[in-house]
Amino acid sequence: MTTPTIELKPSATPLAAAERQAILASPGFGRHFTDNMVTIKWTEGRGWHDAQLVPYGPISLDPSTHVLHYGQEIFEGLKAYRQPDGSVAVFRPEANARRFRNSARRMAMAELPEELFIGALDALLAQDAGWVPPHGGEEALYLRPFMFATEAALGVHPANEYLFMLIASPSGAYFPGGVEPVTIWVSEDHVRAVPGGTGDAKTGGNYAASLLPQAEAAAHGCAQVVYLDAVTRTKVEESGSMNIAFVYGDRIVTPELTGSILEGITRDSLLQVARDLGYTAEEGVVTLERWREDAASGALTEVFACGTAAVVTPIGTAKTRTDAWTHGDGTPGPVTMRLREALLGIQRGVIEDKHGWMHHLGQADNA
Ligand SMILES: *Cc1c(COP(=O)(O)O)cnc(C)c1O
Repeated sequence: MTTPTIELKPSATPLAAAERQAILASPGFGRHFTDNMVTIKWTEGRGWHDAQLVPYGPISLDPSTHVLHYGQEIFEGLKAYRQPDGSVAVFRPEANARRFRNSARRMAMAELPEELFIGALDALLAQDAGWVPPHGGEEALYLRPFMFATEAALGVHPANEYLFMLIASPSGAYFPGGVEPVTIWVSEDHVRAVPGGTGDAKTGGNYAASLLPQAEAAAHGCAQVVYLDAVTRTKVEESGSMNIAFVYGDRIVTPELTGSILEGITRDSLLQVARDLGYTAEEGVVTLERWREDAASGALTEVFACGTAAVVTPIGTAKTRTDAWTHGDGTPGPVTMRLREALLGIQRGVIEDKHGWMHHLGQADNA
């Protein structure tokens, strides 16, 4: 089975430039979508076929469609940034392509070849390049590849048909008024993932399970949830959609990947950026007890969460059902802010990309 090429059938009625500029001036997150999308089908016995770039729009599904009943679905999230010379570059898409395959394998789905994943990004970005916000701020074009089981029949088994789609949405700066620390809720009643489960796959079901604890966090005035390991309920794992890191002076510790933590690309990149800046950056175990004690003693100086959407988010305060504690003076710490600037600088093309992380559109990969 060969890799199909993407047939270009773009919208004949793209949004007028003036309307697009108005959206790009204040895009928010996930509210507006570009003119086009990419769709690729997979059928058992035939492989990947019908790769197309088509106008963005609704799709029609049979009521028995497998994903609606059994949740066989995976997704990715990555960003394209306008570079100082006006060109467009995507941050580490090869890493997302690899993780998408890993997620597919765990969910017993067809694995999209990495070159087709990258090909879909290139095709959509070439067509909808005008939707990448201007260089200058932290705005970017958020790319959302996803795939789900489309077999129209009930019965629990890996589906014999899948649909891959790629859509794109301009996204504004996560902290438009300047970086602000968030308060995080330590979930003691619910867990996100269990050893041997699907915690290391980027699948919608993990998010469905996180909505109740997220609502509980909001009810306690917290913006995010942090989960503990499911077995001992003592070790910190990650937030619902972001990894977490602890700063002890010039040493940074993030929970080691145990199979129930999603392997974040921002997490991995920050470990490298931290080492490049001369910090000690390591994976290890941080217990809830240590977290609380080290915050009280002052040994723990900063805590931050990281992921593609918000890049780096300082965590000022942590709360449980019984207590709360603050890191340092509760304001964004210098290490957190330095890492944030360094990573965003690489992504925006103003700091040298020495690890070959940026995939430049319309050029052979230089990684
Ligand atoms: C996507 C995701 C992250 C962050 O991954 P990035 O590759 O850095 O965007 C962290 N945790 C969970 C549960 C996620 O789904």
